[in-house]
Amino acid sequence: MTPHLHGLLPEDLASFLRSHDVNVRDAEARRVLAHVFGGKEGFPTARPVPKAVEEAVAHLTQRTKLEIVERGTDPSDGFVKYLFRLPDGAFAEAVRIPLEKAGKFTVCLSSQAGCAMGCDFCATGRLGLARSLEAWEIVAQFLAVRDEAPGEVTGAVYQGQGEPLHNYANVLRAAAILAHPCGGRISAKAITISTVGLVPAIRRYASEGHPYRLIISMTSAIEERRKRLLPVASAWSARELADAVRTYQQSAGGRVTIAWVVMGGINTGEDEVAALRELFAGVPLRINLIDVNDARPDGYRRASDEELAAFRDALRVLEVPVVRRYSGGAAKHAACGMLAAEVTQSGPASSSPRPA
Ligand code: SF4
Repeated sequence: MTPHLHGLLPEDLASFLRSHDVNVRDAEARRVLAHVFGGKEGFPTARPVPKAVEEAVAHLTQRTKLEIVERGTDPSDGFVKYLFRLPDGAFAEAVRIPLEKAGKFTVCLSSQAGCAMGCDFCATGRLGLARSLEAWEIVAQFLAVRDEAPGEVTGAVYQGQGEPLHNYANVLRAAAILAHPCGGRISAKAITISTVGLVPAIRRYASEGHPYRLIISMTSAIEERRKRLLPVASAWSARELADAVRTYQQSAGGRVTIAWVVMGGINTGEDEVAALRELFAGVPLRINLIDVNDARPDGYRRASDEELAAFRDALRVLEVPVVRRYSGGAAKHAACGMLAAEVTQSGPASSSPRPA
């Protein structure tokens, strides 16, 4: 298979070329990738590499960009949703998110086309899984969005379509490329991986000691309710998830962010707070509250201001920071839980990130 340059670290490129009898130095492989990731078309590189290396790279590797099928801006908040067609006809979505710091952006990336997790409140989950994305297809989303951004893109968050830890190797490889000085050149600390709670993968992640931030999408701490909302909860109990989170916190340090998709009348009661308190006793947490975005007419509804205020009040007992996260782009179906809303895996009926 012809490797794609967006899926390679310099050491990968060097060893691939050497396996084809190309005499390349490590510094030359770095230079080639820095040139490609800098958004430059074709060769030669700004600082020359031997002609034989340039020719081998041109003949033995691919560097195609993703096809942008559609892009839409939500005028109310400046979120921009991108729909990409992948080489095999599958679709991926990414969202450019303006940060509070003026002129800076982060990119919400898809790790899969569709998702196998089937969370009841999530449009992506209703699609099912078409396939996992290759590392280069994840990195290429970032580059396409970055290259059109009117300011610096300083971060990436895996909250588009898919469960990142269900595509573990490619997600971690793409993160390493995004954080590499010859790759995406963003800080590893500005890369966030969000998971709905694949317990063995969280344990593996903790044991491997990666620098990226992990967010756990909890949404309910009550066993039966979790099973209803998040089918993955049938595989691992809330207790098993909390134990894995505890292990992760001990290896990573700092606070662990728990994402909570707030659904009016469902998961805003004192029972949830009591269960959270019991499950995570002694674990330093931060809680992100995210409004549900269910496009179905009879779907989950957002909590009223009063309900949300009462839930925040109840959460005080945990003595942890509680932040309400803005989930923008709803007008363009770019908000959390809406990605992939109207994309079919055979063609774009229309399209849309999500909460986990
Ligand atoms: S919330 Fe995340 S893990 Fe759950 S179905 Fe949606 S994309 Fe998949």
